[in-house]
Amino acid sequence: MSDPREHTPIQPWTTQPEWQSHAIESLLAAELDSKYMARSQARGLAVHRTDSLQRMLVRWAKSSTFHNGQAILQREPVHVISRNVYQFDVRVSTEVRSEPHAKRIPLPQRYRPSDEEAQDVWEVSVPETPRYAPVKQTPIRIPGATQVVVCEDCDGQGELLCADCTGRGVVERPVKTRTADGGMTVQNQDRACAPCQGSGMIACRRCNARGELLEEQMFLWSRTTQTHHTVDDPTAPNPRLLSQHAQVVYRDTVHLDDPRWQQIPALAELISHATAAHTHNGIVLDAELTIRATPLTDVVYTIGGRNRTIAVIGYGNVVVADRGFYNWQRIGIGLLCALIVTAGIVLVFFFLR
Ligand SMILES: [Zn+2]
Ligand SMILES: [Zn+2]
Repeated sequence: MSDPREHTPIQPWTTQPEWQSHAIESLLAAELDSKYMARSQARGLAVHRTDSLQRMLVRWAKSSTFHNGQAILQREPVHVISRNVYQFDVRVSTEVRSEPHAKRIPLPQRYRPSDEEAQDVWEVSVPETPRYAPVKQTPIRIPGATQVVVCEDCDGQGELLCADCTGRGVVERPVKTRTADGGMTVQNQDRACAPCQGSGMIACRRCNARGELLEEQMFLWSRTTQTHHTVDDPTAPNPRLLSQHAQVVYRDTVHLDDPRWQQIPALAELISHATAAHTHNGIVLDAELTIRATPLTDVVYTIGGRNRTIAVIGYGNVVVADRGFYNWQRIGIGLLCALIVTAGIVLVFFFLR
């Protein structure tokens, strides 16, 4: 049996297509990928002019018995609005340098005090690394901030009392001897202490017996990179599909405090979030802004007194309809049938066991 609607002639729409521009398009005008911008606008208008949009929706309406075909076949949309949906990514590389802390090491053999001035933590030069490459916490020495101090373990003596003999140089060892009647006696005898070789003192390991330590000032240096992401229009349908069909229209190194970003609320919020996360205890080294765009056409119908939107996403023309474009009665019957069939199968299995 053929569907009578197949033969219904489709009247061309009279609704005029609209192009809705986005603030970023005038803000970055020449800096955005001009080919993409021209192509997306042309698509928005062409898709309507050539009635390809109408054919696309009719095809969608007829493609499944669960689609509410009447909604599309028997009505004309009230609005056809094309625009770009933007997604912003801000990649930020931050450097953190901790407060300096003292580290004491044995005084090197050939140590000469330097007459350098102690540098500020942020003046110290650090190894060069590629942009956005992360650096794990690495201790860095502050030049000119060293001093010689007395070893606290040996009090500057370079040696410590031997712990085994408590400085006596000898230790008592039990020695067994046989008595005349064949029995055994045990007597303690003094023996030279092995660890200190009888001297009663051992070299201080902390300072390598030098009695002095070199105190250096160190700080911990690290770099991290994080990417923050936002979709400009959270009301746009299906964020996953929008991402899949997005194209890069801008990528550049930027200043986070550039006042231009404040004109785009979603971008302003993203950047303030990124700035707060990164300047807490470090500095921003580099920031890169990537803007992706996805062309989108919203076709708005009035169904049952409510505005319902069926959208066409990207150059691949993926149709995403809101719930008003589904035949819920048929979906309900379909589910019920599926349930009955499943219950039947379960019963058959149950009785065959
Ligand atoms: Zn010592
Ligand atoms: Zn000893």
